[in-house]
Amino acid sequence: MTQAIKQSLTNRAQKVIAALEKNNMKGYLVDTPDEAKKLIAELIKDDKLIMSGGSMTLAETGIQAFLNENYKGIYLDRDTCPPEEIPALMRRAFCADTYFVSTNAITEDGELYNIDGNGNRVAAMIFGPKQVIVVAGLNKIVTDLDAARDRLDTIASPANCIRLKRNTPCAVTGHCAKCKSPDCICSDFVVMGHQRDKDRIKVIFIADEYGY
Ligand code: SF4
Repeated sequence: MTQAIKQSLTNRAQKVIAALEKNNMKGYLVDTPDEAKKLIAELIKDDKLIMSGGSMTLAETGIQAFLNENYKGIYLDRDTCPPEEIPALMRRAFCADTYFVSTNAITEDGELYNIDGNGNRVAAMIFGPKQVIVVAGLNKIVTDLDAARDRLDTIASPANCIRLKRNTPCAVTGHCAKCKSPDCICSDFVVMGHQRDKDRIKVIFIADEYGY
């Protein structure tokens, strides 16, 4: 990301953070993954159970590794869990002190937009964990919900289908075909706007491009 693009998107992130505050969500902007880790350490210092949803951003930023290294026995990582235990682990996420995720898109009106195939990630974002920490690159910012859907149809879902080796039209064409394929990863379409539980949702923007 060039310095000019970074500055432009950082300005945009400030607007999103102000909109998040109006929606009772807390926004942060940090420059690097290491700064994000310092902030996270402060936000989770009293936690007894930490979990996460599937996220390329958490892997790319090193935050998933940071949690595994520093919160042994407290952070339960499904990527290190035997496959047969994953469904129980997903249900346990509802009792977590902190649930880490990214978001597929975030609008300038301070809305989180996510599409989920299994539903466990969006379900835990909506209800259960005491706090949800959303880590996002500036590339996740979009103008509005139409742009959010377009981002999903042309970037996030095709890329995820390729990564997960799903046999779907978008994995071949790079564009959603509104498929009903057995491999489809698009079942639940969730907009999270104004929250009743103030600052339960915390969004940490890291000033670069991460995930998709
Ligand atoms: S509905 Fe099907 S084609 Fe469209 S993005 Fe989802 S998996 Fe791809």
